[in-house]
Amino acid sequence: MSGGKLVLFSGPSGVGKDTLLELLAKLRPQLQRSVSLTTRKPRAGEVDGVDYFFVSPAQFQEMLQDGGVLEFAQYGDHMYGTPKKPVDMWLAAGKTVILKIEVQGAEKIKRLYPQALSVFILPPSMEVLEKRLRDRGTENAAELEKRLEIAREEMRKSVSYDYRIVNDDLQRAAEEFLSILDAAETT
Ligand code: 5GP
Repeated sequence: MSGGKLVLFSGPSGVGKDTLLELLAKLRPQLQRSVSLTTRKPRAGEVDGVDYFFVSPAQFQEMLQDGGVLEFAQYGDHMYGTPKKPVDMWLAAGKTVILKIEVQGAEKIKRLYPQALSVFILPPSMEVLEKRLRDRGTENAAELEKRLEIAREEMRKSVSYDYRIVNDDLQRAAEEFLSILDAAETT
């Protein structure tokens, strides 16, 4: 890795990663967030090129074959991947780059870039997570069940992350994240 720092940002579905990332972008506008590719359909309010690059399975395969994807993983019934070129460019320019990524992808990146900082966002409890996901109402019952199952597995794997932050209060969690980042940048 060149000048910049790569940050792996993981956490179970419904834990509030996007809300936290939005707040972090306000508190620290120079943070560079990578926009992933996904084959899932956009949720209401999600914008192509901002939240994700929404692509077809065929387009996803094409990018994989062209070597344009840094890492990818299947999550539920869909594929997710990190476009390689922008990440290389940002790191070369010395930026701090945040990848919102599930645990398999994070493991792959840790092998490629051992200096990457990994942070896992935890819910205050499994009950809170389940309620948040249900209240969000963006998944049908079967998808929701699948996400909860993945969440339990991800939370077991979260012990291998460098840091774990409980998202009990958004502002507090954001401040904790920034202090971790600042400490990592001065080492
Ligand atoms: P969602 O469908 O809720 O937006 O995302 C599902 C999961 O995919 C989340 O855990 C999210 O962090 C993860 N994810 C998003 N983009 C990527 C990516 O580029 N690579 C990998 N491995 N996971 C991703």
